[in-house]
Amino acid sequence: MALIVQKYGGTSVGSVERIKNVARRIAKWQNAGHQVVVVVSAMSGETNRLIGLAKEIQKNPDPRELDVVASTGEQVTIGLLSMALKAIGKKAKSYTGPQVRVLTDSAYTKARIREIDAHRIRNDLEEGNAVIVAGFQGCDEDGNITTLGRGGSDTSAVALAAALKADECLIFTDVDGIYTTDPRVVSDARRMDVVAFEEILEMASLGSKVLQIRSVEFAGKYKVPTRVLSSLTDPDIPVEQEANSGTLITFEEDPKMEKVVVSGIAFSRDEAKITLPHVPDIPGIAYKILGSIAEANIEVDMIVQNAAKNGLTDFSFTVNRNELDKAIAVIEKEVSPYLEEGGILSDASIAKISCVGIGMRSHAGVAAKMFKILAEENINIKMISTSEIRTSIIVDEKYMELAVRALHKAFGLDKAPSSME
Ligand code: ADP
Ligand code: ASP
Ligand code: MG
Repeated sequence: MALIVQKYGGTSVGSVERIKNVARRIAKWQNAGHQVVVVVSAMSGETNRLIGLAKEIQKNPDPRELDVVASTGEQVTIGLLSMALKAIGKKAKSYTGPQVRVLTDSAYTKARIREIDAHRIRNDLEEGNAVIVAGFQGCDEDGNITTLGRGGSDTSAVALAAALKADECLIFTDVDGIYTTDPRVVSDARRMDVVAFEEILEMASLGSKVLQIRSVEFAGKYKVPTRVLSSLTDPDIPVEQEANSGTLITFEEDPKMEKVVVSGIAFSRDEAKITLPHVPDIPGIAYKILGSIAEANIEVDMIVQNAAKNGLTDFSFTVNRNELDKAIAVIEKEVSPYLEEGGILSDASIAKISCVGIGMRSHAGVAAKMFKILAEENINIKMISTSEIRTSIIVDEKYMELAVRALHKAFGLDKAPSSME
């Protein structure tokens, strides 16, 4: 008997029919002798709808009240799923995040989990229940409802699996695993049987939305065996078959791991660039600019400073697109005396594309190959940054899909990998 945490995303519980199918799938795992804890998202589109309602009332909704509203989608799903299980003769119990006591910090709309009290869930499991928990939510020490950021149910599931020391965390979703890139954009993207933890960590942080980044961080920290698989298959397929399907995140070299240099391509449209074309080339200027941005709690991604000319230099950096206005306001307020006549330039129609692979550690030339491919497509590169296992570039948003497809093909990701020399 194993203890399994299963997470079902929005599409997987998007209708009553699908919720009934999820119940059948859970019952199948229980009938095979396993204990099952289930984490669910809101029905697809529901969280957007709720946030939309809040914005109709306040342009920038009060964060505490926004969490009160946004967290309700998941509460509907846990109730419906528990009923669906009871309707087929199974014992089930539903809990919201605060009821379990998923304790978080108080950072509304992007709270971090601090602790999970698992004893109640354990008791319910011992009594033969499937335990159904609302993802995406918790409460702070004062009992205020918090949410974990968009896509946060993944994190709820992996964190619960860690707290319960579950044997495996299964992330059921609307694709049958983790692909070399988003299959919605590149039709010949390929599913991987296994993916290295570091690779999926990079891909998630670089904008691939298949898993929320914090869920991957939890999986790494607590070594939670985590698998991404489809919820849209026949719910009655044998448990053994399902248990081996999808993509497993591995923490060590795995013989099944593909021996390739680039394993995947991530991309993100959530970027915006700020350029200060004329700032004085003096000690402390980067600190003046980026220090004030950091103080405003705005995350900066890429940074480029060019060689100085006549005592002036230009300075560019990227921020999340929805924080662009806030970042410009901070610069105007804090850095204005240093801007000379150049002022502030900004560009909100850029995208970031990243090639990721642990094979890049031992193989040079990936960046050069990327630049060649983009040159052949006549796509201009605006910024570049690299780490040990990735190379990221910024391009005009309108070229993003073209660039991703060209890179995916040129790195041979559409074909089953041969062995690396
Ligand atoms: P859920 O509601 O189940 O959490 P999401 O929409 O959050 O589902 O995540 C699944 C989606 O992630 C897929 O439909 C797919 O379009 C997208 N995606 C992006 N990058 C990848 C990738 N590399 N592999 C698989 N899916 C990806
Ligand atoms: N319902 C939340 C969202 O749409 C959380 C999730 O689905 O993971 O972001
Ligand atoms: Mg998701």
